[in-house]
Amino acid sequence: GSQAREVDLVVIGSGPGGYVAAIRAAQLGRKVIIVERDEIGGVCLNVGCIPSKALINAGHIYHEQLHDTNTIMGVHSKGATLNWEETLKWKDEKVVKTLTGGVGMLLKKNKVEILRGEARFNDNQVLNVISGDESHLLEFKSCIIATGSRPIEIPGFKFEGRVVNSTGALSLPEVPEKLVIIGGGVIGSELAGAYSNLGSKVTILEGLPHILNGFDDEMIKVVVDEFKERHIDIVTNARAKSSEQTADSVKVTYEVDGKEEVLEADYVLVSVGRRPNTDELGLNNTDIKMTDRGQIEVNNRQETSVPGIYAIGDIVAGPMLAHKASYEAKIAAANAAGDDELNCAVAIPAVAYCDPELATMGETPDSAKEKGLNFNIAKFPFAANGRAITMNATNGFVRILTDKDTHVIIGAQVAGPGASDLISEFAVAIENGLSSEDISMSIHPHPTLGEAIMDTSELADGLPIHI
Ligand code: FAD
Repeated sequence: GSQAREVDLVVIGSGPGGYVAAIRAAQLGRKVIIVERDEIGGVCLNVGCIPSKALINAGHIYHEQLHDTNTIMGVHSKGATLNWEETLKWKDEKVVKTLTGGVGMLLKKNKVEILRGEARFNDNQVLNVISGDESHLLEFKSCIIATGSRPIEIPGFKFEGRVVNSTGALSLPEVPEKLVIIGGGVIGSELAGAYSNLGSKVTILEGLPHILNGFDDEMIKVVVDEFKERHIDIVTNARAKSSEQTADSVKVTYEVDGKEEVLEADYVLVSVGRRPNTDELGLNNTDIKMTDRGQIEVNNRQETSVPGIYAIGDIVAGPMLAHKASYEAKIAAANAAGDDELNCAVAIPAVAYCDPELATMGETPDSAKEKGLNFNIAKFPFAANGRAITMNATNGFVRILTDKDTHVIIGAQVAGPGASDLISEFAVAIENGLSSEDISMSIHPHPTLGEAIMDTSELADGLPIHI
């Protein structure tokens, strides 16, 4: 037995949870070591949020040019070609590397030590970090666990060859002629849109009666209408049963309406959900309590049942989203540094980067009804927004829900151009308890998509100018 090295604060995992926690704890005076078994930046930067948006954007531009979608503006593109190898190279070497390199520099700037290897708990105080033949024992004062999640595998669809998970789907050797996507959640629907734009014939097999679970019907319809126009097939209530690979294709057997069907494709993406990376951490050697879903239990200070050990991100309850992990990171780091910060987020925004984009936060009409809240709905179409008309992108709407008595905004949805950016105004409004009057009497620059938010608020006030 080697001697354990005594350390101050250890962060396990360098995703948007871990790296943010490490930097913040260092800023607040702790001596921090971050342990990472793979690439700096976690799923989000390497094989998640960032590379997926790169492909979505490339697909978008290619589709526009190939199908001459801007002729109404007098812009005619003379055909377009796609060099997939260059696209992948740009995604990996320019987009991902720039950002992961940036995170590495920020860690360095904040004097965070990076230790490469896989961490496992020996007990409540000691971690064993293994890299290759070497292992280090770290005896820590505090620890923040941010080990993230990985794709769920389903029976009959082992991840190999032409059956891929989201990681594989972000680096396919070629753009598939035919792509089957099992699971039409956010990740599946985003990649369906991207590959359809890149030229694939895409079929989504969804187990539920609708894709994009978590968004309301009115919003889902905006995307489904667009998917139909792009000839993306959506099979709902479908149960994927098995796959069979040959040298150059894969057959997918699924059941729908009690009937068995077979689809042949070049690749199958299985995107049915993610499971927390808590099973190989040696947590059974500790007194850290788990939920029955394999998540780590934490209080509203992000602290586990073992004082001084915190957990954040995809391994704790709540939506598996990067910005949620980073928020929790700041809470955990502050508490580890001796503050008393509570996780008291009013709402967490969620975005689907489809065509058009969907963004939601707080209450939806359904959730507000279910809770028996006394609320108003105001909905303003982008078709009445000047900027959207100049962009030839008038599909979609802004919707806000306000408390009937106080007019405080309790929920907001944006479907349409720029929804992912526009929702941030509501993030500030909802977090700070602003009312529709607060927004409608804040001067918004003209002409912008953001004016649609002011217009929706005027509508909620009962004094709409533009509708
Ligand atoms: P991760 O980012 O998963 O990082 C965990 C890190 O811990 C990993 O680097 C892992 O190697 C390391 N690790 C695990 N175990 C150990 C160990 N024992 N020892 C050492 N290191 C370990 N979210 C959004 O908000 N917006 C999006 O647009 C979005 N798009 C996505 C697209 C795709 C295709 C996918 C797959 C996910 C997407 N997500 C998105 C989700 C987002 O990536 C996650 O919510 C986020 O990465 C979670 O952050 P985290 O810090 O909890 O964990």
